[in-house]
Amino acid sequence: MSDCIFCKIAAGEIPAQKVFEDELVVAFKDLSPKAPVHVLIIPKKHVAGVNNLTADDKNFVAHIFVDVVPKLAAELGIADGGFRLVVNTGDDGGQTVHHLHVHLLGGRKMTWPPG
Ligand code: 5GP
Ligand code: ZN
Repeated sequence: MSDCIFCKIAAGEIPAQKVFEDELVVAFKDLSPKAPVHVLIIPKKHVAGVNNLTADDKNFVAHIFVDVVPKLAAELGIADGGFRLVVNTGDDGGQTVHHLHVHLLGGRKMTWPPG
């Protein structure tokens, strides 16, 4: 999508502090971090949100959870202490960027319930 900021980050058209990239996904530091570690993991393919996922997307969804999150959590030093994954979805979910992204947050004690 030509007007999507995360597509532009994935394509390298606008700068971001990338911490991981492969053929399916890109991970980069959130511009406005809410924790000492705050990384966004996105598919390179434009998918607006969870409600827009199709069966074809199972590869990158599984890849994010099975491969990318554990690898990044270990590398960023938050695997043992724990971390939070967040996927805001739609208006009530607080989604502001309509390109699917998984927040990886850690480095401090999280509270519950979320705001
Ligand atoms: P959402 O509210 O949609 O779940 O999360 C969007 C996230 O993207 C926010 O945490 C926001 O700080 C981050 N964000 C928005 N624009 C940019 C950007 O241009 N670069 C980076 N690195 N993060 C961004
Ligand atoms: Zn996009």
